[in-house]
Amino acid sequence: MSLKVIFLGTAGSIPTSKRSLPAILIKRKGEQIMFDCGEGVQRQMIMAGASFHRETKVFVTHMHGDHVLGLPGLMQTMALLDRNKPIEVYGPIGIKKFVRCIRETVQFALTFPIEIHEIRKAGVVCEEPEYTVQAIWANHVIPSLAYALVEKPRPGKFYPEKAKALGVAEGPLWSQLQHGRKVTLPSGKIVKPEDVMGPPRPGRKVVYTGDTRPFEGLADFTAEADLLIHDATLDDDLAERAYEDGHSTPSQAAENAKKARVKQLVLTHISARYEDPRVLLKQAKKIFKNTQIAEDFMEIEIPFRES
Ligand SMILES: [Zn+2]
Ligand SMILES: [Zn+2]
Repeated sequence: MSLKVIFLGTAGSIPTSKRSLPAILIKRKGEQIMFDCGEGVQRQMIMAGASFHRETKVFVTHMHGDHVLGLPGLMQTMALLDRNKPIEVYGPIGIKKFVRCIRETVQFALTFPIEIHEIRKAGVVCEEPEYTVQAIWANHVIPSLAYALVEKPRPGKFYPEKAKALGVAEGPLWSQLQHGRKVTLPSGKIVKPEDVMGPPRPGRKVVYTGDTRPFEGLADFTAEADLLIHDATLDDDLAERAYEDGHSTPSQAAENAKKARVKQLVLTHISARYEDPRVLLKQAKKIFKNTQIAEDFMEIEIPFRES
């Protein structure tokens, strides 16, 4: 089952000719999970082949304009295209009022319900059968959340030969075992899933920091992620300025990636001052090799881990 991360917007604060404002789209099993919703996001979605009708959740990190001003346009476009499925929006305090103000002042008829979840507490903020989305308070200049999409472990590998050897005939009983239920054979013998299946296999984990300075707890939150998408607004030489503005530098992002033992690191929220972001890449790679700079429309497919 594919889990694809598409970078719809990779700029920090203001857009450039090459970079749109922050938005990251994850496509997973027919669902779209979006982190941040920068201005013009619906056009980026069209260019990336995303859908306005699919099941969609939007997780906003914080109420700075570059991360949230895409919502009004997205809502309007979805309404004009007669979306009828609800959309779920998660975000810190202020998100509810913001959406209410759009609905009260911008003249368009919504064709679908909007479910808003205002996050007041870190932890699991969204629980689905196959995954959770977890949030932690980051360290920015206003309240801001970092998010992790964490898949639940998948059932272990099924061994047909073991099932056959135990006398379980191919058919519905196999499916029950594969779904974690024990079965009783006509002889009265009970066969448990663990008799015919390997150990559960880990799910995948993607972490997005949003805008943040380095902070205590981020490495734990990020631990063993398959992909860490990290703020790297300014380069190491501007570390002081980055701190003042509530951002991280490439080295700080890389230190976190290393400490958290992630598989790969992508730097995003790139300041408009870096027409050529190679300086950022170089600084991060000294500390964490498997690093890339996010570019608009870059796609990363996250494979399942071997064990
Ligand atoms: Zn920002
Ligand atoms: Zn910000």
